[in-house]
Amino acid sequence: MCDERFVSLVRCPSYEAQAVRDALENLLLPYGMLDFVKPDMKVAVKANLVAMMRPEQAATTHPALLCALTDMLRERGATVTIGDSPGGLFTPVFVERIYAAAGMKEAEAHGATLNQNFETAQAVFPEAVSAQTFEYTAWLKEADVIINFCKLKSHGMMGMSACAKNMFGAVPGTTKMEYHYRFPDAMKFANMIVDLDEYFKPVLSIADAVVGMEGNGPTAGKPKAMSALIASRSPHAADIVCASIIGIDPLSVPTIRAAADRGLVCADIKSIDCSAPVGEFAVKDFSVVSARTDLTMGANLKGPIGKIVKGFLHKTLEVRPKLQPKECIGCGKCARICPARAITMNADRKPVIDRNVCIKCFCCQEFCEKGAMKAHRSALLKLIQRSNN
Ligand code: SF4
Ligand code: SF4
Repeated sequence: MCDERFVSLVRCPSYEAQAVRDALENLLLPYGMLDFVKPDMKVAVKANLVAMMRPEQAATTHPALLCALTDMLRERGATVTIGDSPGGLFTPVFVERIYAAAGMKEAEAHGATLNQNFETAQAVFPEAVSAQTFEYTAWLKEADVIINFCKLKSHGMMGMSACAKNMFGAVPGTTKMEYHYRFPDAMKFANMIVDLDEYFKPVLSIADAVVGMEGNGPTAGKPKAMSALIASRSPHAADIVCASIIGIDPLSVPTIRAAADRGLVCADIKSIDCSAPVGEFAVKDFSVVSARTDLTMGANLKGPIGKIVKGFLHKTLEVRPKLQPKECIGCGKCARICPARAITMNADRKPVIDRNVCIKCFCCQEFCEKGAMKAHRSALLKLIQRSNN
């Protein structure tokens, strides 16, 4: 098995079944075509099934890839369970609708079981940096190994959602909102996600970047053809390649920064042993939500003046959720899910955000089905980012 600095990167031109099978075989060739999978092994495939969205909306792991992976695992005699806990309720009825919308029934026809265990379990993880105890979806503990299969997307809070972030789906349904509140700071939140990656230790992390999502991700952005599949034993090494492909500084992604600070990965793309030149896969015009400049901006400023300047920089340069009133239908979902209770609905049935209470978790942006809540960058931040590009 390749070491954790190795990343397999291959072309996959479409979701046509044979193209996907060929690409997946190329991708997994360095991993002995899954030769670590033994007969009767129970494999959990942790997909990204974030919301009730169709495959062509590019928010969820594409079923064609899950079908091909299921075939390959079953050819080795494994049993395959595919699952995830979406952003809403973690209940049979709700998740069943998501399976149907996301095309998971196709994977079921290929012999995978769609997870039906909706129990939760408590983890105690003393080595964690943020989450020494946490709640998780119990189906993951039934598996002998976990394969983490994400979708590469832009992300309001984290800049990018890929392999590391995908394991946040191990936290059950609405408990995710509580965790946003429990870890309101971007780095604490990122460390919590890295803790989940370390606890579950997926044997392989794969990113579906055949068609990813750009813009107002992770649910309201636009599909973006990228024709790539990425795999690694390390979710962080895979994410460094993902970030490089979509043109963002890996260290601006909080989970990569957290993993680098913890010595789990070197964030320099040159340190990654990649099977193909990353530059050849670069998507030049990928529209990102934002590079999280607020993570480093003013970090070295000390004393009372430093505090004031830092406060100003954060206020002026921080990315924040902003309503596009014309797209809002006044459903109130954002107000109901806001973990900080920062949103109230006004007399016109439009959400109003209390900026002093908002923790910038971007749940309102992530779960607005109309895409009416956008991750907003100030004019000054846009100018700085443009001059950095
Ligand atoms: S912003 Fe979205 S979730 Fe919030 S009320 Fe408007 S449409 Fe509903
Ligand atoms: S307003 Fe949006 S970003 Fe702010 S705390 Fe509420 S859900 Fe999170």
